[in-house]
Amino acid sequence: MQDTTFPSYRGRLDYVCLGCGARRSGESLHYTCPDCGGVFLLENTDFATLNQTKGPEWRDIFDARAATAHVALRGIFRYYELLAPIFDEEDIVYLGEGITPIVEASGKLKDEIGCEFAYKNDGQNPSASFKDRGMACAFSYLKWLCRRNKWDEVLTVCASTGDTSAAAALYAAYVGKPLKSVVLLPKGKVTPQQLSQPLGSGALVLEIPGVFDDCMKVVEILAEKYRVALLNSKNSWRILGQESYALEVAQWYGWDLSNHCLFVPIGNAGNITAIMSACLKMQALGIVSELPRIFGVQSEHADPVWRYYAQPKDARHFEPVAVTDSVAQAAMIGNPVSFPRVRSLAERYCALAGDRAFQVVQVTEQQIMDAMLTANRNGHIACTQGGECLAGLMQAKALGLIGKNEHAVLDATAHSLKFADFQQKYFTDSFAPSYGVRAKAELINAPTLLLPSEAREGLEDQAFARLAAEAVVQKLGLSPKES
Ligand SMILES: *Cc1c(COP(=O)(O)O)cnc(C)c1O
Ligand SMILES: [Zn+2]
Repeated sequence: MQDTTFPSYRGRLDYVCLGCGARRSGESLHYTCPDCGGVFLLENTDFATLNQTKGPEWRDIFDARAATAHVALRGIFRYYELLAPIFDEEDIVYLGEGITPIVEASGKLKDEIGCEFAYKNDGQNPSASFKDRGMACAFSYLKWLCRRNKWDEVLTVCASTGDTSAAAALYAAYVGKPLKSVVLLPKGKVTPQQLSQPLGSGALVLEIPGVFDDCMKVVEILAEKYRVALLNSKNSWRILGQESYALEVAQWYGWDLSNHCLFVPIGNAGNITAIMSACLKMQALGIVSELPRIFGVQSEHADPVWRYYAQPKDARHFEPVAVTDSVAQAAMIGNPVSFPRVRSLAERYCALAGDRAFQVVQVTEQQIMDAMLTANRNGHIACTQGGECLAGLMQAKALGLIGKNEHAVLDATAHSLKFADFQQKYFTDSFAPSYGVRAKAELINAPTLLLPSEAREGLEDQAFARLAAEAVVQKLGLSPKES
């Protein structure tokens, strides 16, 4: 058994600009390149040292940590050396994020879809979405910064499609002083459950008329001119935390990702960036020998990344799109911040594993809703974006992109409860025409009122219970037990 004391290895993290290649030290907080405005990825300039440990040894180390009660290594930092190996143990914030379950689809559902697949339930994170993975890392970095710089007050801000603000507010509330949290939301464009989260965590919640892309612009102006810590996905530390997802998938399947396809919804494109980056690191260290195939999924109402990759390889041109109403609301983004990261990593990914290793599929709103409801009727807890992944798998299969012996892992990025309103709209067939979703009778469910309230009048509780029980018997056609 490996010992699971906190690792002594420390790397050196640099921001690398994807626009002009400029480098900055990871010792201060940067969002975009001061030289060209490009986005950054963090790179461990001491990564080569990690190669002194061989792939099988890394696997043993991570497997040993799976059994640890050592809090700092229980969540995403099980993979400490591959994420942000500059923090000390006291910096690490752990709220139970990561190590989420992978649940195989039931036999019946696999038959219906015609594919082998599982859901990874990232809605089982503390604020009920995968955003907690990134926040655990971003807040650990903030603690590290505050400690080193002796800062006594830091304002954290983010624009959000709902889940980023829920996660940011939760982690800020936990860490407390010197952090204070402000979130900017597009009014009416987050679900009531998502809005309740930062409010419950005590954050200052500011609403703006418009969509996510509008909020993002405001936050950018603030981050450029004032001392605030921006927690949107321009913050590269979040990407590092989100890399834990792919590491967990690999570990669950015994570090063998051959014949696995990972399906991921694309919104701001941070999640798919992180997943590609983690897979490349695992391969570079010999932790896995084969890269999994990665499929991004976008709704036709917010599909700029799909449009980019649908063009011929040598003539691709990126254009932001104007989004229209989408049930995959957390991914309803027309100008993804992390697109340059995706483009850069996808190029490396395909150079190593071929053009089929990274693909993007597009699905309709109707397919997303039908897929989510179908998954959940079979024991899953997928949100609309999780439904988008299943719709993407079905689409990829219909297009002949999935082989017979391949197995898919779908990212259920949030808990279904956060998006219960969309389910309700479906069950009452009341989607606004802009969504383009009509309910299918076989997927609708609604409560049945057993007795009108007048039926209770003048009856004792026990008498009413007998009457209601009789109504159940009638409704279900129950026959008495044989004595
Ligand atoms: C943020 C989010 C997405 C989109 O992820 P990106 O990293 O922005 O591409 C998808 N699903 C849920 C539930 C989210 O909260
Ligand atoms: Zn630059």
